[in-house]
Amino acid sequence: MFNKKTIRDIDAKGKKVLVRVDFNIPLKDSIVGDDTRIQAALPTIKYLLDQGAAVILCSHLGRPKGGPEEKYSMKPVAEHLAKCLGMKVAFASDCIGPDAESAAKMLKSGEVLLLENTRFHAEEEKNDMGMAKQLASLADLYVNDAFGTAHRAHASTEGVTHFLPGVAGFLLEKEIKYLGQAVTDPKKPFVAIMGGAKISDKIGVIKNLLSKADTILIGGGMANTFFKAQGYPVADSLVEDEALETAKTLLKEAGTKLRLPVDLVLADKFDAEAKSRITPAGPVEDGWRILDIGPETVKAYAQVIEGAGTVVWNGPMGVFEFPRFAEGTYGIAKAVAASNAVSIIGGGESVAAIQQSGLANKITHISTGGGASLEMLEGLELPGVAALQDK
Ligand code: AMP
Repeated sequence: MFNKKTIRDIDAKGKKVLVRVDFNIPLKDSIVGDDTRIQAALPTIKYLLDQGAAVILCSHLGRPKGGPEEKYSMKPVAEHLAKCLGMKVAFASDCIGPDAESAAKMLKSGEVLLLENTRFHAEEEKNDMGMAKQLASLADLYVNDAFGTAHRAHASTEGVTHFLPGVAGFLLEKEIKYLGQAVTDPKKPFVAIMGGAKISDKIGVIKNLLSKADTILIGGGMANTFFKAQGYPVADSLVEDEALETAKTLLKEAGTKLRLPVDLVLADKFDAEAKSRITPAGPVEDGWRILDIGPETVKAYAQVIEGAGTVVWNGPMGVFEFPRFAEGTYGIAKAVAASNAVSIIGGGESVAAIQQSGLANKITHISTGGGASLEMLEGLELPGVAALQDK
């Protein structure tokens, strides 16, 4: 249940509306790369324009060190957005201060302004109330549509709501509905697929899902730490020794709910051209490392996925960036795409994998937020959402 007010609940006509979007997208030499996050924000922007609002957008981009840096400027994003919307997008060279204030003042109903990178001010990440107040002074209403940053209490995501009434945009609402429902009221059986490099990033998620999911399928580098916790040597495989005790506890608590790969693809080095071989799960010989799940595991996991009511997937099953070690991830992608389950994919790398496999259109919901989607699956409340007005 989504219990926050959304843009449907406000009267935006003739108002200046500050919208926090997540335009943290790949930029190379001022050229916009994958623009999924811009596309995902368009419904909210268009709706507000149709309602007769003047739309002031703000976002962070990359990791500037608290001051302006040309390579993280939002200017190219403004140009790209103008193309996507088919209209002029004004740009202010700062997100607060005189330039932002005069640009916001001049903005009329039906027009769009994009402010410069919010992280050009160190105060943004400190959730500084002075900065939040200045941002808020640009508008009459605040909308948060930046799911990817909603797990951070920053000046533009949380602080600003102390000075302006805040509601959710369509993207934020959609993300919270799908991810929230998966953890609170999933269609059963509920199957979680967890992969990626490390256990440590996802311990909280696995713990929370143990009480909610019917089965947790483990793959990727994180399986190695579980193998080592079971007492198998994993040779040169990626392993997190500091997470061994946690892995042991999780294995004990999970019982048969947690499934580990039954076969593996080994490589003789971490390289796209490495020699490889398939082997049943067990002790790994010296000189070898685990880089993917094997075909029997794909078959076994696919059977579980086929019978699922809800599938949540975070993290690739192997080093899918090397084609030779991508079969496990693509096999699972195919199984998820083929199932009739409500399917939700979160986390940058698994989203990239599903897009590369050409199966993205078969997935119910692809999340735009990595860290934020993990925190949702962990059962945490996101500060950027908590700060919005209740329904
Ligand atoms: P994450 O960001 O935690 O989802 O991790 C994604 C990364 O995990 C990808 O770049 C994969 O290459 C990497 N990965 C998956 N499986 C393995 C493995 N068996 N060994 C090393 N890295 C892996």
